[in-house]
Amino acid sequence: CTDFEVENEPIWGYLPGSQERTDLEAALKKYAGETADVPIMIGDKEYRTDQVMYQPMPHDHNKKIAKFYYATDELIKEAIDTAMAVRASWEKVPLEEKFNMWLKAADLMAGKYRQDLNATTMLGQAKTVIQAEIDAACELIDFLRFNALYGKEGTKWQPRSPSPEVTINKIRLRGLEGFVAAIAPFNFTAIGGNLAYTPAMMGNVVMWKPSDTAILSNYTIYKIMREVGVPGGVVNFLPSDGPVFGGAITKSPHLAAVNFTGSVPTFQWIWKAVGENLAIYTNFPRLVGECGGKNFHLIHPSADVTSVINGSIRSAFEYCGQKCSACSRLYVPESLWPQIKEGLVSAQKNLKIGDVQEYDSFTSAVIDEKAFDRIAGYIDYAKSAGNAEIIAGGNYDKSKGFFVEPTIIQTTDPIDKLITEEIFGPVLTVYVFPDAEVDNMITAADKSTPYALTGAIFAKDKAWLEKATELLKNAAGNFYINDKSTGSVVAQQPFGGARMSGTNDKAGGVQYALKWTSPQAIKQTF
Ligand code: GLU
Repeated sequence: CTDFEVENEPIWGYLPGSQERTDLEAALKKYAGETADVPIMIGDKEYRTDQVMYQPMPHDHNKKIAKFYYATDELIKEAIDTAMAVRASWEKVPLEEKFNMWLKAADLMAGKYRQDLNATTMLGQAKTVIQAEIDAACELIDFLRFNALYGKEGTKWQPRSPSPEVTINKIRLRGLEGFVAAIAPFNFTAIGGNLAYTPAMMGNVVMWKPSDTAILSNYTIYKIMREVGVPGGVVNFLPSDGPVFGGAITKSPHLAAVNFTGSVPTFQWIWKAVGENLAIYTNFPRLVGECGGKNFHLIHPSADVTSVINGSIRSAFEYCGQKCSACSRLYVPESLWPQIKEGLVSAQKNLKIGDVQEYDSFTSAVIDEKAFDRIAGYIDYAKSAGNAEIIAGGNYDKSKGFFVEPTIIQTTDPIDKLITEEIFGPVLTVYVFPDAEVDNMITAADKSTPYALTGAIFAKDKAWLEKATELLKNAAGNFYINDKSTGSVVAQQPFGGARMSGTNDKAGGVQYALKWTSPQAIKQTF
């Protein structure tokens, strides 16, 4: 393979008067002013069914940015047949050619299509400029480039051949023998791209089910990948009802893998359905999943208060807490609580919650009515529960958009549901403990929830940092010391967690691309 080097894509600033801001505004105007018609894509063909759906703008839900169609069971089956028919020819395309296509796509996303990706993500998924930029531009581009790099490095490793004059050993990286189902979430446009296109890059064919609430940004990725030469049928774009899609893929003998990001119950449903159908499969399907989290910030009495406040506000409330990595439980020692409380409350007051198109908005609406109702339910519970007190926020209103105020709750019960259940919204629950109990809080951080996605500890005391880091070894797949629990960067902090948070296959890590191959070891004797 040709050598190439890769850097993380820089984050653009969109300063007033800059060309990038002008371009972004033009894209926002275009997408906000129309309802795009997004077809189902199978092979080279567009399909439209009579199950018509709309993608509203969460911050202004009367306006729809996309009209789309649910694929039926028959269409999903047709997509599987189409993919299986192109599988062999796609696998034959040399990996190097595929890596070059991916690099070319990344360049288009970094330039020509950057604002299409940003605008569709901002309007469709209610992201502010900066949150869209780090996702739909930077992270997506990084996934394509670094996975191409890691895929290339994977092809370089060859097994030992101690007596090459007699025997040569080789590894051939094959695609999986079947199709990969990519089931994507709404919260990161980049994750959708990664779930579908990293398996495709390694020679697989893919059934891609985008989230209903991220249709337009995901379709934008699909179109760019077609433009750089990914043939029809390699990735099939299949908006669909979850159970219909899940039923169709798990009942196909060709299911080779599921690449999933979403909720624990859905991932468990997939495992069960696969288990029930084991007898029909050609291969054991590979199930890769990233699920939820209930991520902690654990504060030691020696911590720097300012970084705790800033880090916790950003982690809990950026993108309305709808990152799997968001901090949602904060353990604070009594001695620091007065200062931290004051800091959190005054920071919360200054957060502007508004239209995604206003540059000073810190957050906007939550994704949809279901999310709004769920989050409001937890806030109502906190209002009525005897052991909880709302210390900031607590308001919500869905009349125009699905707006929930960033809310900080203090509880006196360390195993209250506010501390143990994933809310996936802008709600931060604080538990204040006597300083002398800080080591018990290590256990609380580790054991109070079934999850292990992200976590952070804040302290200046080096011996304690070391101890806590060791004891919390299994409490988080992404662990932060004196930094917030969100904001992992591809190839810097590969992302994923174990326990109920998933299979910890580390998106953005070196192993990820190779996960989507089935290596064949060849021994040839002369
Ligand atoms: N990688 C993201 C972060 O560290 C979160 C990804 C997710 O929400 O699934 O903030």
